[in-house]
Amino acid sequence: MHKKVMLLEELQQLDLKIDSCNSGKTELFERLTASEAELEEARLLVAAKEEALSGVQVAKSELDANMATENDNIRRSETRLKDIKTQKEYQAVSREITAAKKLKGELDEQISQKAAQLVQLKEEIAAAGESHATLAEKSAAQKREVDTEVARIDAEIAKIRKEREATEKEIPAALMNRYRMLREKRQGLAVVEARDGYCLGCNMNLPPQLYNNLLKVNELITCPHCQRVLFIRQ
Ligand SMILES: [Zn+2]
Repeated sequence: MHKKVMLLEELQQLDLKIDSCNSGKTELFERLTASEAELEEARLLVAAKEEALSGVQVAKSELDANMATENDNIRRSETRLKDIKTQKEYQAVSREITAAKKLKGELDEQISQKAAQLVQLKEEIAAAGESHATLAEKSAAQKREVDTEVARIDAEIAKIRKEREATEKEIPAALMNRYRMLREKRQGLAVVEARDGYCLGCNMNLPPQLYNNLLKVNELITCPHCQRVLFIRQ
């Protein structure tokens, strides 16, 4: 194999290893982000239920106040009944008392409903809080795992980079530029094997003369279809 192509292929091996390390890191971060989103969703659920609870509490306090007012009204009317002189006035106040008692009954029902809602919401908040706590624990454990794993991958990348630096020094700058451009354009593969007359980068048939040159000529040959640098494994 052409010496420079051999170096380029070596460099590409290292770059592919770095690529794979980086996608491993990305995957870890994505998983962490997903579990953090799940945790946030659980937190929002607890917050929403707590807000609903305080809404019901306010509504129930208002109903309780209305109830107290109605009780006062009834008491006052009942006191007035004792001093009433005329039948007509007596009937009017009695009607007031009946109406107030009816209203009291309705209020009573509404207050019971709110009380039941409060009980239910408190149960729901406890359950949501529990699942939030479980998720928080899970997420924290995952974060620790990811941190450890990322540190391990970073150390590996640093090691590969050192090796890569030494290899890159031996490759001419112009060839390096071409390599970088090809890697960018061709899904990370700038140097590919040619086998049985085919370019394994694009799977296209290579002209026979070009293939023969690859076997013997000591020069840099590229695929006419995908422009990748070709080599033959010996
Ligand atoms: Zn090709």
